[in-house]
Amino acid sequence: MFDLNSKVTLLPMVGKKTEQHLAKLGILKVRDLLFHFPSYHQDLSKITKIQNVKPNNFYTIKGKLISIVNKRTPRKFISITEALLTDETASLKIVWFNQPFLKKSLRMGQELLASGKAQIGMNGLQLTSPTYEIFKKELTHTGRIVPVYSTTGKLTPKLLRFLIKKILPKAKSIKDYLPKDLKKRQGFTDLNAALQQIHFPDNEIKLKQAKRRLAFDELFFIQLSALSSKRKLQEHKAPQIKFDKKLVQSFVRSLPFELTNAQRRAAWEVLKNIEKSTPMNRLLEGDVGSGKTLVAAINMLEVAKAKMQSVIMSPTEVLAVQHFKNLSKLFTKQGIIIGLLTNNYSKANKNFSKEKNKIKTMEDNLPKTKFKHLLEKGKIDLIVGTHALIQKNIRFANLALVVIDEQHRFGVNQRKSLKDKTPKLIPHFLSMTATPIPRTLAISLYGDLDISILDEMPKNRKPIKTYLVPSTKRIGAYDFIKKEIKNGRQAFVICPLIEKSDKLGVKSATWEYKKLKKGEFKNLRINLLHGRMKAKEKEKTMDNFKSGKIDVLVSTAVVEVGVDVPKASVMMIEGSERFGLAQLHQFRGRVGRSKYQSYCFLFTDSPSQQTKERLAALVKSSNGFKLAEYDLAQRGPGEVYGIQQSGIPDLRMASLTDLVLIKTARAEAQVLINNGLEKHPALEKKLNAFSKKVHWE
Ligand code: ADP
Ligand code: MG
Repeated sequence: MFDLNSKVTLLPMVGKKTEQHLAKLGILKVRDLLFHFPSYHQDLSKITKIQNVKPNNFYTIKGKLISIVNKRTPRKFISITEALLTDETASLKIVWFNQPFLKKSLRMGQELLASGKAQIGMNGLQLTSPTYEIFKKELTHTGRIVPVYSTTGKLTPKLLRFLIKKILPKAKSIKDYLPKDLKKRQGFTDLNAALQQIHFPDNEIKLKQAKRRLAFDELFFIQLSALSSKRKLQEHKAPQIKFDKKLVQSFVRSLPFELTNAQRRAAWEVLKNIEKSTPMNRLLEGDVGSGKTLVAAINMLEVAKAKMQSVIMSPTEVLAVQHFKNLSKLFTKQGIIIGLLTNNYSKANKNFSKEKNKIKTMEDNLPKTKFKHLLEKGKIDLIVGTHALIQKNIRFANLALVVIDEQHRFGVNQRKSLKDKTPKLIPHFLSMTATPIPRTLAISLYGDLDISILDEMPKNRKPIKTYLVPSTKRIGAYDFIKKEIKNGRQAFVICPLIEKSDKLGVKSATWEYKKLKKGEFKNLRINLLHGRMKAKEKEKTMDNFKSGKIDVLVSTAVVEVGVDVPKASVMMIEGSERFGLAQLHQFRGRVGRSKYQSYCFLFTDSPSQQTKERLAALVKSSNGFKLAEYDLAQRGPGEVYGIQQSGIPDLRMASLTDLVLIKTARAEAQVLINNGLEKHPALEKKLNAFSKKVHWE
């Protein structure tokens, strides 16, 4: 016998092969099968009298088997089983392909149900390849509302239904973890009934109730997990960075531009937050070019002046180097010592050599051990870096603020590991993202974060003109780029691949670079950038491009995030169907970062209508939030934001856009947290298992 914790191999019909197929669906134990919910249901409960069957419709019929024969197609490749079903009104031919065994397994005179499409065949009306079942009181495959499960090639829907039906009685042994009063308040069915009904519903109403209950559970555990980790975080102490109004004001006044109102508001929210002794955990959302770095910089300045350390971590070395240079420039007069730590760099800015006159120039790397020592002794105020920062042997003296740039590019655990690098207090956390997550979704995804939004662009920005360029106008696009460059601008050409791949027929940066250098752009200064180049080479190329020594940069997606080249005015994207909307929007954000009118040219060889529509959305809208919503509706949050990256749990029943249910779940979770989770041990146990799977920050 089996129970919920048994391996699936204890079930009938499950051999080695089936075990492997089930494993592909994440089903290892009997319990997993119980929680493998249907993708949808098919209502096959209505039985049609045979005389009413018309061609080209889908029917379920019920009748006696009065004949069954096996045949072969003329060329003998395919076996055909022909049967005749009769009810009190008429009889109908049934045709199955490649199932000759049916002749043996079905008996004449047996009562059968069959659901399938009626078609005009060679000899009149027939039901083609129907799902069938021998009539009995408890039906599984037809004659009822039937569950349809996501499955893999070899695993038949019939087998899945058979197995789940078999184990369903075991659902009774699962204890309902939701408190009684919550269930009563929300009018929820019991877990047990919900599990029965989600698989084999008695009727539409009970199915709906089951869905609502199970969808609630999913959202509820997200919220419960988020709120309880928020509460746990608040039990810790963080360094208090006192708001220094004069310092901030004079710094902001020294900038060559005015802050946007959104920047002012966000900076204020953060400044107020790091004044507190409970650790900040905040997400700063803002479209590409909305000036997130400055919001972080204002706060890092405060931290440095309070004689504490802050860190800004970037997903790529190119970006880290850019931050290092920009921040060094931004803080020239502030005397802040800035360090850079990546796989290839461990150096500090000029202020360092000035103050600690022992070391002459900081253009060169310090020995890594020396650099680490300086960090640990608190001699560096602001540290810019990549993943190199989270290596085990890196320690800080008094880390007060951690800024994560482009947080969606980091795994949750990577972000988390920075928290434990300082001896006593927990640093404040500011995550920044250019992936504009609609606020509703942000609440459900990041229920434990406070959110600041930059919904306003600096004034000097012009919207970027975006075109989907047909291949017939390719030459025209090149001519346009040449004209722009003549006027002192620069251009990007983005390709999906590094090297040519004949199989895919997709443009590669290396190949495109060679072609353009010899052809269209032979009189221009053109260069290549991709992820397989050495760090130094990449940096040099980026530097040359930024300082205007290169006109055209042919690149792969490495320029995706954050790279800042004010004079670049054209972004040309090859094979644009290979990128997501959010990513394309990011590419586009590489241009239009100054007062010049900028352009984005999208190229695609894809004939797909869906691709064209997706790209058209980009042409129409320059609003990252709108595009994110569109992307979300088209592809779902998992595809858009990456399940692993964002820690989105695998939702089966709930929708992250069901605002009403999300709010309900959040409110109920808050009630429970306030009243004390420990009163509900079953719930606590389930929550622990859930949190282990999802790893909230
Ligand atoms: P992102 O939000 O994409 O990270 P950045 O912080 O890199 O944007 O800022 C983009 C550019 O805009 C930088 O060159 C920055 O100096 C500039 N910038 C930031 N804030 C303003 C502002 N209020 N007015 C004008 N330019 C700004
Ligand atoms: Mg940025």
